Parts: sequence; structure tokens; C-alpha cells
Amino acid sequence: MRPYTYAAATTPSQAIGLATNASAYLAGGTTLVDLMKLDVMGPSSVIDINALQLTGTTVDSAGLHIGALSRMSDIAADPNVTGAFPVLAQALEASASPQIRNMASIGGNLLQRTRCDYFRDPNTPCNKRQAGSGCPAQNGANRTHAILGTSTSCAATHASDLAVALIALDASLTVQGSSGTRQVALADFYQLPGSTPSIENTLKIGELITEVTVPPLAWATNSTYVKVRDRSSYEFALSSAAIAVQLSGSTISAARVAVGGVGTIPWRLPAVESALAGSTASIANFTKAAANAATGAKTLSQNGFKVTLVQRVIVRALSELLGVTS
Ligand code: SF4
Repeated sequence: MRPYTYAAATTPSQAIGLATNASAYLAGGTTLVDLMKLDVMGPSSVIDINALQLTGTTVDSAGLHIGALSRMSDIAADPNVTGAFPVLAQALEASASPQIRNMASIGGNLLQRTRCDYFRDPNTPCNKRQAGSGCPAQNGANRTHAILGTSTSCAATHASDLAVALIALDASLTVQGSSGTRQVALADFYQLPGSTPSIENTLKIGELITEVTVPPLAWATNSTYVKVRDRSSYEFALSSAAIAVQLSGSTISAARVAVGGVGTIPWRLPAVESALAGSTASIANFTKAAANAATGAKTLSQNGFKVTLVQRVIVRALSELLGVTS
């Protein structure tokens, strides 16, 4: 453990005023404390933001607003979420363990770091942890790694289930910094690794996520999150699908589809959405649409199975959501 200073803030402005390029905000601590113990992260100052009044949900004409310091378990059980956006509640329930969901914040979940084993081992090279040091996953242990949005510098998957559901729902973030508050679409927030995998999002130094907004979508009541993993709890996705469907009789009039466990960022699939729109709900049509899911995929030595898996997870999510068996 490296020495660091600790300060507790009571307002967002105070927290932002304390921040430097070597500090870290402490919310639930379920990522930060782990990575400090592993010597993967070593901030010189830790700013505790747990006293900030950024919890709970509200609903207005702009949609559902979720305070960034809300705990995952609270939002998973929130009546504003469970009825209108079941895909969000299910994604949260499928995340981590009950103990972690009781501690971890919504904002922290969106900022969690990858589970790539090399990233979490400071004794190995890793471009994401130490720029320019290399990516041993390219020719090493890469079974859990991404097939979409990868580069030769990094193929680590994004770990958040919640972010996949939020991307499908066109969510945006409210971000506060020293120069004011801005709104950013979640689809524009995460950055592909390219040649700079250590840069994961568009947050500037000291900026704080204060709120998540999910715009109204009446047919999001008909939505689901399906996650496939090596064990049924406390495990990250090998592949997952967040799906919302608008039905007109037995015809799909519109769909939202995003997948996790296969992309370096949460991955929206407009080609699958277009293929579903206007089609009759059937396994054959789900399979045909899902065939677009892995277009452009680049596989490594151990993760080629994800090309088929991601398509099957989409078909399963659609068939379970719509009660279609043939
Ligand atoms: Fe590091 Fe990314 Fe390579 Fe993993 S895949 S070793 S996180 S650079």
C-alpha cells in the first residue's frame, strides 16, 4: 500500500475543488480499494464523496433520473425502475454479489475497471495500466476478452452490466467539473482502446458523474437482460444482451439491442435492431437478425466461441422476453 491523503467532501463543488490529476473519488470503494490493495491504482489523495446528496430516483418529462451515488441494490429495487425499465433492474441484479451491490454506487459501476488478469497484476505488462508496456493478452490468456472494438494494444472487455442496459436505453450522464456541468450521451462517453487503452472515457480531471438520465421509452416495460457466465453468481459476462421490444400484434415494430462481455465498451447493435424491426416474432427471424451481431469481430486464440455465443444470447433473450418457442 502506498501512502495517500484522505479528505471527505460534503458537496460536489468541494469534492471537485479537492481533486488533482493524482486523486481518486471514493464512493462504494468496491473497485478502488481492491485495486489500491493490488497496487494497480495508487492515488496520492482519496476524496470520499459518500456524504454528497446524490442518491435516489426522480421521474419527470425528461425521463428517469438516478443519483450517481445510489447503491446498486437500491436502484434494482426502486419502483421507478422495476416497472418502467425491467432491463435495468435485471442488469443490476445480475451484477456482482448481493454484498457488493449493497455497497457499490451507480456512478462507480459505470467507471469500474476491466477484469483482465494482466491489468490486475502489476508484475505483468499492460498497456491499460502502464501505457506502452505491451499487451500480453494478445497471445496469452484471452478466453474472456473482447471480440468487438479491439485493437492490437488492448482487447479487454468492459465489465459493467448496467452500462449495457443503459446504452440500449439511450441514457446520458450529467457530469460536473470545475468549469460547470455538462450532459454526455453514454454512447459518446466510453472510448475504444485504439492505441491509448489507458484512456477509457471522456471524463476530464476532477469531473464527477452526478446523475444518470434515462429518457422516456414507454415500451421499455417490455425489456430484459440475459447474462451468460461461467457460474451463476458473482461472475462477469462471457456474453450478455439487453433487449427492449415494441410489438404490434406478433410483429416487432421497434427494438433496442446492446450486448456485453464481447466489446471493449458496452456495444449497441443497430444492425440487429434494424433487422428485427418489421419482422414477425419467430426463432428463425431472431436468428437471422442476430447473425448481424458479430460483424467485424476480431477473435484471439481462445475467445472465438463468443462469435456464436453472442448471437445465441440475443436469440435466447428475445425468445424468453416474447414467449416465442418456434
Ligand atoms: Fe492490458 Fe488490455 Fe492487454 Fe488486458 S487486454 S493486458 S487490459 S492492454
